[in-house]
Amino acid sequence: MTTMDRARPRVEVAPGSLFIDGQWEPATAGTTRELLDPATGEVATTVAEASEADAERAVAAAHRAFEEGPWPRMNPRERGRILSRAAELLRRRADEFAELESFDVGKPVTLTRAVDVPTAIETFEYYGSLAAGIEGAARTTAMPTVAYTRREPIGVVAAITPFNFPLILSSTKIAPALAAGNTVVHKPAVETPLTALRLAEVLQDAGLPDGVFNVVTGDAVAGEALVRDPRVGKVAFTGSTAVGKLVARHAADTLTKVTVELGGKGANLIFADADLEAAIHTAVSAFVFNTGQFCMAGSRLLVERPVYEDVLGALTAACPQVPVGDPFTETTVVGPMAGPGHRAKVQSFVDSARQDGVRVIGGGEPDGPGFYVSPTVLADVDQHSPYVQEEIFGPVLTVQPFDTEEEAIRLANDTPYGLAAGLQTRDVARAHRVAAALRAGMVWVNTWAVLDVSMPFGGYKQSGYGRENGPEGLDEYLQTKSVVIAL
Ligand code: NAD
Repeated sequence: MTTMDRARPRVEVAPGSLFIDGQWEPATAGTTRELLDPATGEVATTVAEASEADAERAVAAAHRAFEEGPWPRMNPRERGRILSRAAELLRRRADEFAELESFDVGKPVTLTRAVDVPTAIETFEYYGSLAAGIEGAARTTAMPTVAYTRREPIGVVAAITPFNFPLILSSTKIAPALAAGNTVVHKPAVETPLTALRLAEVLQDAGLPDGVFNVVTGDAVAGEALVRDPRVGKVAFTGSTAVGKLVARHAADTLTKVTVELGGKGANLIFADADLEAAIHTAVSAFVFNTGQFCMAGSRLLVERPVYEDVLGALTAACPQVPVGDPFTETTVVGPMAGPGHRAKVQSFVDSARQDGVRVIGGGEPDGPGFYVSPTVLADVDQHSPYVQEEIFGPVLTVQPFDTEEEAIRLANDTPYGLAAGLQTRDVARAHRVAAALRAGMVWVNTWAVLDVSMPFGGYKQSGYGRENGPEGLDEYLQTKSVVIAL
């Protein structure tokens, strides 16, 4: 049942400033931006809007901290201790962070409590512990030498993140970048910068030296200034494929190292031998999780023909049961979209599907203010339609039938994206066969979206390159030097 509970707590958020060189400062031109509460559409607070000059100031501070400060020179174990302290401080402030993230993004507070904040804490703990293991290796050369490798930080990291998982995606960049000894300028998404600003407080309290971590809030102007600055040694970008391509192009001018974690269009394959009840439950969570604003959403469902109509029937029954409502209501599963522009984009896909004569199940807009879209299923869609090929990034699922395993794999792989995929089956051999054949950086079998800080994730094809999480996520922030001493 759709519930629109408007009785919500008022979250007061002080206006935000930039955090540069350990100081809270306004933007140079005094410019600010209003942030909207996604659940009501009302102005929630203001934050400083960074200009190019502000981005340059932040890079200058981070550059100075890298060239002259203690951080890159510190024993990695000591850096690790500071990151572990940050995790502990974050744990003590977990409720505050969970409420702020929910308020800023519009995601259910039950989700930010259960997923976003604990994941961020674990990420700081994990990379805090991996820091101690950053070391080179002795090598045996043909000539008489003492030869060894050193694992060194890269320099200033520009960490640029999207609106949908602000705290997690900040942490998956900041924690390994700092563990490796880099300094950071972070630009969170223009719509959802609030927890990044709070994180600056936590890192400062944990004992990070001034200039090692800086936050500039703002839009593409600040982001592009960071990417183009030759003092930046590495850009860690998560966002849309279109902007990721632009970032990679700009970074190429200075041969700055880049990782780009981009869009997705995850295919979820239900085979007729699957535990259908569990598979349908998984399919629904896979597309409504985080209100569908999830790069790894299972937004395309491919169903083996003998059970196709049964699955559609179950989806028709399930969609109206998903509780849509205020993010602060404990039963809410689908909150509002993060902003009005994004809501309009998602709704326009549904509207044009209707106009194209697509079988639309569910959907409709709840009454009242806020940026809501209800879970919607687009059935029998054409593989080459925009609904299947483009990332909608909302609670919208396409459904298509298939007849053979080969056809399922071909349809699953036939989009420009390759971030996540999965299958639901009881056949173990098929599970391994299909997992190997799916062109995606992450594959789930009989589940969806089970992520862990120890498991690397990242894209195939136009979902990007580079990996976050796991030891692979730390490697992205290190470079290797060979030292050879003649004997
Ligand atoms: P976006 O690409 O619009 O913005 C991402 C960030 O880039 C923001 O901080 C934005 O201000 C900044 N930016 C915009 N133009 C820039 C430029 N020219 N130079 C530098 N920075 C610039 O993405 P979004 O709408 O915030 O987020 C949604 C997208 O993110 C979806 O496509 C989603 O799939 C993707 N995403 C990917 C992952 C992943 O891990 N692969 C995770 C979450 C989200």
